[in-house]
Amino acid sequence: MVSRRRFLVTSAALASGACASTSPGVPKPVTPQSARRLRPGGLESGYDPWLEIDAAALRHNVREVARLAGGRPIMAVVKNNAYGLGDTLVGPLLSSCSEVVGIACARVDEALAMRKAGVSKPMLILCEVAEDEARELVANSVMLSCWFDDSRTRLERVAQRMRKPISVHLFVDTGLNREGMPHHRALPWIEDLATRKSIRIQGTYHMFVHDLEYDRVQHTRFLALVEAARKRGIRLGTLHAAPTFELFYLPESRLDMVRVSNALVGNYPGEDVRDRALLKPVFRLKARVIRVEQIQAGESAGFRRGFITDRPTWLALLSVGHTDGFPITAAGTCRVLINGHLYPIVTGGISSTYTILEIGSERRVEVGDTATLMGADDPAIDPLSVAAKAQLPFQQMITKFSALLRRQLT
Ligand SMILES: *Cc1c(COP(=O)(O)O)cnc(C)c1O
Repeated sequence: MVSRRRFLVTSAALASGACASTSPGVPKPVTPQSARRLRPGGLESGYDPWLEIDAAALRHNVREVARLAGGRPIMAVVKNNAYGLGDTLVGPLLSSCSEVVGIACARVDEALAMRKAGVSKPMLILCEVAEDEARELVANSVMLSCWFDDSRTRLERVAQRMRKPISVHLFVDTGLNREGMPHHRALPWIEDLATRKSIRIQGTYHMFVHDLEYDRVQHTRFLALVEAARKRGIRLGTLHAAPTFELFYLPESRLDMVRVSNALVGNYPGEDVRDRALLKPVFRLKARVIRVEQIQAGESAGFRRGFITDRPTWLALLSVGHTDGFPITAAGTCRVLINGHLYPIVTGGISSTYTILEIGSERRVEVGDTATLMGADDPAIDPLSVAAKAQLPFQQMITKFSALLRRQLT
């Protein structure tokens, strides 16, 4: 009997700490506690589809990002449940790499879940939070971001309640006009924060719009603010900005540290930079063949008769559908790997829980065979090419894995 645990995180190197730092003070890598919580079901006997996280590929991408960053440290952004790949799996794996000096996340519950899952490196929450949430984060050694006008009074109240200084990163808005303290009125705000004993400024950052010309304007604005603060003797801590796009396209934005997410999960910011780094797919989506049947000429398969055969052909049914995160638009355009061969998904062949494949004139697959729908094993099933063929942004596609993972983890 093979346990689910084995499938969830592949690569034997996980527990051995192949990526661990030898420098003192850096916590030892941890085996994700979530993996220990896994239900010991038997996949050999089960029909549910499953996701595998490739720890070695993830670590490879970390090294590629570190190389692109010119050796600068990485703050790994793990948000939106690691884009559907599971924050409590991906977070500890990333955090076990010496190149990763911290984890940033977008939501309070994700930060706390990763701490519980064994992430012991510095953590930063990227949003402003309510005061009770701030106290819980501080109690779990998560650094806060601040960018509200009244951040100072809020932080001072938290510090008073916690009876200790609060570590923060200042988020400056340089033109994305989404979140952050607008750069043109940030200086007095920063000065006010910097003079408080109960507030420790550990870092200062901004976020780009991913338009190179405007990015350069933002970069200049940020540096001007940094310089102005420096002239007043204000320490801004670690300066960081570059996410994936600017990591590839705007080298001067790397500052003291890069703050990356997409590249770590294998997503390039553009086709023209693919030769600059080799990013590997970090997951596999797999399912079992649960039915093999032959149909005759003139018969169709699936809803709306999108596929009609003109000769006898074998069909295989996979127990995976669009509710598991396999895009419905992959039908008629994508293929699936079984025992080293690729088989097309019939047009209209993806429904909520099933996927229909055409095998051809010979019965070449059997019930119980494992099918790989996405993964590194063949260029045809590379997740980036599946996303392209399914006409979905990669990130949006993989975010849909959350439901599947939740079932695997509980
Ligand atoms: C998501 C996010 C990042 C990481 O962006 P990628 O493009 O995925 O590398 C960095 N900083 C902030 C503030 C973010 O929200």
